[in-house]
Amino acid sequence: MRCVICKGEDIEKKLVDEEIRLSGDIVLVSMELLVCNACGERYYDQRAMKKIEDLRLSMKVENLQFQTVVGKVYRTHAA
Ligand SMILES: [Zn+2]
Repeated sequence: MRCVICKGEDIEKKLVDEEIRLSGDIVLVSMELLVCNACGERYYDQRAMKKIEDLRLSMKVENLQFQTVVGKVYRTHAA
């Protein structure tokens, strides 16, 4: 496969920290994604998209209980 951004062919599966932003907070999620080594573009498959969406939804619910805390950085694993 070729990178749609830079047309490079140097794309490999890597473990990266994906940032999910949620009302002032940033949650770092370790995920395996295809990443272009030339320009850094990330490619999300359906499984990755679903995982991000699920996390976003569950964090939204959790956030209701912690409304006074903002600006924290969390790290979690999506495996
Ligand atoms: Zn690229």
